[in-house]
Amino acid sequence: MDDIWDLVIVGAGPAGAAAALRARQLRPEARVLLLDREDFPRDKACGDGIAAHARVELATLGLPGLIDDYRPTRRLSVVSPGGERVLATVARPNHVVPRAVFDARLVEAARERGVEVRRHRVRALEERDGHVVVDGTAAGRTVVAADGANSTVRRLIGVPASPAAHTAIAVRGYADVPADDDVQLIAMQRDGWPAYAWSFPVGDGTANVGFGMLLPQLRATGLPGRAVLHGRLERLLPHLTARDLRAHHLPLSTARPGPGRGRVLLAGDAGNFINPLTGEGIYYALLTGRLAAEAALLSAADPVPAYRRSLRRALGRHLITTDVLARASRSPGFIDAAIATAARRGDVFDLLVDVGLGAGTVPLPLAAAVVRRWLASSLGR
Ligand SMILES: Cc1cc2nc3c(=O)[nH]c(=O)nc-3n(C[C@H](O)[C@H](O)[C@H](O)COP(=O)(O)OP(=O)(O)OC[C@H]3O[C@@H](n4cnc5c(N)ncnc54)[C@H](O)[C@@H]3O)c2cc1C
Repeated sequence: MDDIWDLVIVGAGPAGAAAALRARQLRPEARVLLLDREDFPRDKACGDGIAAHARVELATLGLPGLIDDYRPTRRLSVVSPGGERVLATVARPNHVVPRAVFDARLVEAARERGVEVRRHRVRALEERDGHVVVDGTAAGRTVVAADGANSTVRRLIGVPASPAAHTAIAVRGYADVPADDDVQLIAMQRDGWPAYAWSFPVGDGTANVGFGMLLPQLRATGLPGRAVLHGRLERLLPHLTARDLRAHHLPLSTARPGPGRGRVLLAGDAGNFINPLTGEGIYYALLTGRLAAEAALLSAADPVPAYRRSLRRALGRHLITTDVLARASRSPGFIDAAIATAARRGDVFDLLVDVGLGAGTVPLPLAAAVVRRWLASSLGR
């Protein structure tokens, strides 16, 4: 085996590209191999929403201006399942960048930094002499599994797929909207809750529109998935005709499989790092990809414990917060109370954005205020 790498990364989405970029940032001489079954640019079913938090990660990776040519979106409107509404300006703007563009730019940046990028679909892994051998052809001291929601590498190391109860499915398309439409809209749905539709204007006269729900709720309809998702999207946004419809799974962080096994680290969707409240995953993919690369290079002898520690430091309290909130929000009344509170208080709105799109946590007094409002409205009913 002469094809030996310091780091082999499977999957060149945001998690894999971040791992590659970080590895070469830490050690410019490191031999880093980035594999993807597709050539770039490639499309990926996604809402294309790049949270402000993700831009901070891009800056950490040395790419602060990567999406500066896209229009910042400052206004966010959320409608709760019971019809409570908030429309407010976010503390830091979000962006909407089609994944065909965003992911290709990341991969190109990794290539420019000296990462070897190859088109290759990974099918087999084997641990041999302190290395992980990929498909019998390339060996890495560490492998980062960044191959997305239906990760092959995760299955190959014996970690079961995300359970249906903790997996969502969503369809997205593109629709024409007025060029000055600059409000990101999230419209939650009581029917099939938790479920929501979105419209995220790109800034060029198009918007990414979509609809998502949990897998068990979809299956409970007894109808073909495509008919349910496409039908609901059409019904919820009747004024928009969506094209290029494409669906994909979202493995939610409420069922985290752990950081990995042996010399293989799980990052991004392969490790269930999607926020269960919003379906946001790009920020977490960039962050976990970066942390995985740090563990791989700085703790090469035993990377899993190092990765576990850094995940806990970066996301531990946040993940516990979203575990608890995801449970509470099974009752749509809880979300109604949270959105109603956010409509009256800017600090609560900012905090919800931080929890839904970043690594935010909820201070106890605030949680108590929302629970009081929820109980009061439940008792009132
Ligand atoms: C409809 C929808 C809307 C969403 N909206 C948003 C949003 O607006 N904002 C947000 O932040 N998140 C959103 N998400 C979540 C977001 O898309 C994911 O969290 C994000 O793509 C995760 O990045 P990743 O790098 O882990 O995986 P991916 O982006 O899925 O990348 C995985 C890569 O691995 C490659 N691969 C797979 N198998 C193999 C193999 N065997 N060998 C080699 N390569 C392989 C794939 O080709 C792919 O390029 C949405 C998800 C969906 C489905």
